[in-house]
Amino acid sequence: MATKRLQAKCLCGGVRIDADLESQEVGVCHCDICRRWAGGPFMAVEASENVIIAGTDLLGIYESSGWGERGFCNACGTTLFWRSKDAAHYAISAMAFDDLTEADLTKQIFIDSKPDWYALANETQTMTGAEFLAQFASEEDKPNG
Ligand SMILES: [Zn+2]
Ligand SMILES: [Zn+2]
Repeated sequence: MATKRLQAKCLCGGVRIDADLESQEVGVCHCDICRRWAGGPFMAVEASENVIIAGTDLLGIYESSGWGERGFCNACGTTLFWRSKDAAHYAISAMAFDDLTEADLTKQIFIDSKPDWYALANETQTMTGAEFLAQFASEEDKPNG
């Protein structure tokens, strides 16, 4: 699929994110931090190229680990993205886009942290937290937390 430039925005429209998406594959994270932060499993698309954020005066950033931070709108509270602290890698909330017309739910991570009282019926790849983190060589590279 060709790279597509799409815009995500918060509920009040104060924060808008333009990003080049190489794919519209949606990944779900069931980890404790994501669920508490997003009010549910966090569903996101990945972006690393040309991410431009407008409305940064309203953008709140919460440092959730030594390697990652989470962005939200200070005015309306919308969950917007996880990003690595160097801002080289983003996982942007799939729910913040209007037109993910080719979206496909492909992966669930931290499946071992998912509470038993919900389950997604989509057929996806699943990984435990340990399996997911094992992909990354060093602590600093871990794209979660
Ligand atoms: Zn807002
Ligand atoms: Zn998570």
